[in-house]
Amino acid sequence: MHELALARSLIEMVDEYALKNGGRRVRRINCRLGELSAMTRALYFCFESTSKGSRCEGAELVIEEVPLSVFCHTCDAVKTPSGRFNFRCPDCGFPTPKVVTGREMQLTSIELETVNEDAARKHLSADYSAQQTPCQ
Ligand SMILES: [Zn+2]
Repeated sequence: MHELALARSLIEMVDEYALKNGGRRVRRINCRLGELSAMTRALYFCFESTSKGSRCEGAELVIEEVPLSVFCHTCDAVKTPSGRFNFRCPDCGFPTPKVVTGREMQLTSIELETVNEDAARKHLSADYSAQQTPCQ
């Protein structure tokens, strides 16, 4: 998936959640991204400009990157390959196509802001807009 599409679908999901739960703005978004997706940096980069005008604007995006691990049938154990696209067991050298972790794309939690805090946040998001970067 293209990182911009990922950012958009993440923001849509969170925006809808905020709408349904009466939150005017989102304070913080926590998610988990597998190392294999290789999108952590791109998502951070895209988030700010993509979230403009949504309830996610000005929210803090926190991404926990999940490292790649594979299952080796020869060693009968979970191993960590030496490189991101190196699907071989680091110990016995046999191919390990079974990915255990590293493909995650999960929204873990969302923190919403109350109405009272909205005024303070508006001031902040004005500062953010000055350093907005185009996303492609
Ligand atoms: Zn092995």
